[in-house]
Amino acid sequence: MEKLTAVKGMNDILPPDSARWEWLEEQVRALMARYGYRNLRTPIVEPTALFVRGLGEVTDIVEKEMYCFEDRLNGEQLTLRPENTAGVVRAVIEHNLLYEGGKRLYYMGPMFRHERPQRGRYRQFHQIGAEALGYGGAEVDAELILLAADLWKVLGLKNVRLELNSLGQPDERNAHRAALIAYFEQHGDQLDEDAKRRLHSNPLRILDTKNPAMQALVTGAPQLLDFLGEASLAHFNTVQALLSANGVAFTINPRLVRGMDYYNLTVFEFITEELGAQGTICGGGRYDYLIEQMGGKPAPAVGWALGVERVLELLKQGGAALPDLAPDAYAVLPDTAALTRAVPLLQALRAHGLRVLMHAGGGSMKSQFKKADGSGARFALVFGESELAAGQVAVKPLRGDRDAAATQLSWPLDDAAGLARRLREETPLQSAA
Ligand code: ATP
Ligand code: MG
Repeated sequence: MEKLTAVKGMNDILPPDSARWEWLEEQVRALMARYGYRNLRTPIVEPTALFVRGLGEVTDIVEKEMYCFEDRLNGEQLTLRPENTAGVVRAVIEHNLLYEGGKRLYYMGPMFRHERPQRGRYRQFHQIGAEALGYGGAEVDAELILLAADLWKVLGLKNVRLELNSLGQPDERNAHRAALIAYFEQHGDQLDEDAKRRLHSNPLRILDTKNPAMQALVTGAPQLLDFLGEASLAHFNTVQALLSANGVAFTINPRLVRGMDYYNLTVFEFITEELGAQGTICGGGRYDYLIEQMGGKPAPAVGWALGVERVLELLKQGGAALPDLAPDAYAVLPDTAALTRAVPLLQALRAHGLRVLMHAGGGSMKSQFKKADGSGARFALVFGESELAAGQVAVKPLRGDRDAAATQLSWPLDDAAGLARRLREETPLQSAA
């Protein structure tokens, strides 16, 4: 039969790699709790209109990256979520979560974009995001950036730099937009197809181009920062002051505009040079008008999302050491007759918090010991006939000094608590029970 494979650009996450995923998720949960962010889980499928309205029609995502389909039963237009901010906003409005003030939320999960798969760019990928809704102050922008910077610290990631910009408010953007259109019109011959198409619909997006041939043109374009009024500048300055006061370095990149239409004021990206072209590991900003645009009571908001695959790739290249998932003990079972007496001891050891791997599938003692060794376990528990007859299990160290046969010992089957304590100690076999 023809072999079935995963969809192109969508990956299985296998052990032992999955351990790194779990570890990252645990670090994130702990960190979010320290900042008072609570978990929100929204559906992976949403009405297509949610993203069209939320992200803006003239964006890469909505124009060409969404997985859209029609519900076969009722004809509803649905989309696999390409990002989660729109979903979070929908949920916040739908459940009236802002009725008593702001909410700090985070999410983790798969997103879907129909892009050309390459290193750091997949069709199903994963994001972790943090959103603070109902807060307009620059201190919350700073809090979110500090939270992300803290995460890099916890993960042991170095060589991540922060770029900041301010997109100002709609009126400031409009003035800039007019200047931008005039500028690009003057240089019409240098525009690529995408840029020509967007010149009048969304000229700011042209600044976000990835076309190397357009870089010089884009560098010379009028800068939004020069169009900011006093209030926008004050907001931006407060963010910068708070970052500096907390030792978070940044550079201002006037060309940083981000891929979605919904941003205003602060936008930022964390970038590394160690992942090649896909160097942005986290991006975000303020989106004070999105909630209203989606039909909610007007409320400001700010957030970011990080790409899990890219962060993990960076982690692989040198981050914090991962916890050891090897079992504490491996049960060697020469005879199935041993099972009824062996398994209860294994259960009791697990109840004491030990990691215990049971040999399955029979085989000789020799082959079982080979498996035990390969598992990385520190000890083998051998349920041999003579030990069982004596009401005991043999405990054999698998690591360290293997010649010290004297360190092997027998332990009473009914003393799981004592055995658990011994197995936990670094040199547990000095004295037998
Ligand atoms: P890029 O410019 O790389 O396409 P983006 O601006 O589209 O990124 P966002 O929508 O801001 O990305 O998503 C936040 C983060 O999610 C990105 O910084 C990146 O780390 C990650 N990300 C985005 N798209 C993908 C993808 N197709 N595969 C893997 N990670 C992705
Ligand atoms: Mg993109």
